[in-house]
Amino acid sequence: MINERGLRMQMVTAARHLAAAGMNPGRSGNLSARVDDGFVVTPSGAPYDTLHPDDLVFLTFSGEHGGGQRQPSSEWRLHRDIFVDRPDAGAVVHTHSPYATTLACLGRPIPAFHYEVAFAGGHDIRCAPYATFGTQALSDNCHAALEGRKACLLANHGAVALGEDLEDAVGLAEKVEALARLYWQAIQVGEPVLLPGVEMDHVVEKFKSYGR
Ligand SMILES: [Zn+2]
Repeated sequence: MINERGLRMQMVTAARHLAAAGMNPGRSGNLSARVDDGFVVTPSGAPYDTLHPDDLVFLTFSGEHGGGQRQPSSEWRLHRDIFVDRPDAGAVVHTHSPYATTLACLGRPIPAFHYEVAFAGGHDIRCAPYATFGTQALSDNCHAALEGRKACLLANHGAVALGEDLEDAVGLAEKVEALARLYWQAIQVGEPVLLPGVEMDHVVEKFKSYGR
């Protein structure tokens, strides 16, 4: 297993990658990764492009601060609750990426309009009901929307993706954004054709062995 220093370096690289890809407009969004006895999360209000590994904040699973100058992201509860409840989560990426957030502002989940929706673990990518940022209520709504899934939208807010590791979580966040863009484009023109549930089940199974 990678040490915490190495993980912090990876997180800075991932954060800069997300910034360059336009995934966190206006300093929005945050990311985290699991370590042995807690997790490391991006600090509150720091621009990703100048982020330093020491700016990242360690928290225990009970939310205790590991010291240092910076305050953790205001969404630390959401990250913490995912690590506690989801043993499959090694990293979590929260974005306000433009197309996923557009659908979230419409309260519109992403249905099975494309087979790659199954990358998120099921037949659709749900949209969690709205709650104020940084609250336990938002984390609870997010948790319910992630049931059997690895990604969801957050109404009037953004999106969340989790993965085995940072690469996995960042890749899924980008996939959700790409799917949101395609879905948004499709609904400008007409009513997208949805894949049947039996086909989505088949694709979910195929993806379990994909790339291994
Ligand atoms: Zn947010």
